[in-house]
Amino acid sequence: MRIRFDAVDEGSNGYPDVVMFRKLRRELAKIRYYSATPRANRWTRASNLALFISLPLAAALTLTFDHVVIRSRSVDQISGVVLEQGQGIFSGVIGFTDYQSELWQRGQPYAEFTLNAPFHRTGWPVATSERRLPAQLDINYFDEPGTQSNVLLPENSPIGRVIESALTNHSDQEMLVRWQQPKSEVRRLWWGWVFSIVMLWILLCVLANIALGMTRIVWIVSHRRRSRERKQRKVHGKCAKCGYDLRGLDFHARCPECGSEQE
Ligand SMILES: [Zn+2]
Repeated sequence: MRIRFDAVDEGSNGYPDVVMFRKLRRELAKIRYYSATPRANRWTRASNLALFISLPLAAALTLTFDHVVIRSRSVDQISGVVLEQGQGIFSGVIGFTDYQSELWQRGQPYAEFTLNAPFHRTGWPVATSERRLPAQLDINYFDEPGTQSNVLLPENSPIGRVIESALTNHSDQEMLVRWQQPKSEVRRLWWGWVFSIVMLWILLCVLANIALGMTRIVWIVSHRRRSRERKQRKVHGKCAKCGYDLRGLDFHARCPECGSEQE
């Protein structure tokens, strides 16, 4: 915006400041006029409404995806062996699978065990949480066929104590915690939440505006067709609304068929 002051010359009215001020005011008014937002119609109102509704919807979707969408899953695993040393005395060894090893001589093989601690990253379109699920215990008792999965040992079970002490001796405190935690430990990734909500908000707004645009096109097309039809009917002396033939009627301010006013 260029503001011209060349009309201001001293002596024209003796108050160049006043002229300058008026010009400036005119220019500001012009700027205001051209930068004003266009008058709201039903479509811009619908678009604004979609903008507002999309935000809580995006937050709700992020929360749902955080629980439902598993992006990646991995399992921390620790295996070991329980040895029986007679008279109901057991000991456990972590990571002991070499049956020929001298460690094997410590006792009679009683059971093999594996602790599986699942780790999930959840959320969409980006990860919003890291979930450390409680570790599950699989035991294979050598005197029984097959492996028992997800075994819940009774409290103070000797096997449970053996596994606990084996984990402690092996400095696997983390796995011990994972095994003893009653439910999943969830770490929220807050930037992921912000990013997910914003992304979904934008996506929902774009989809809503596409839907609105398509509705608007359909509306315009049908509106044009209707008005063309009305015009055609009027030209042929028929009721614009229902097409009833009005020719030969003395009064045709109103259609006798549908009662609509005729222009
Ligand atoms: Zn009519």
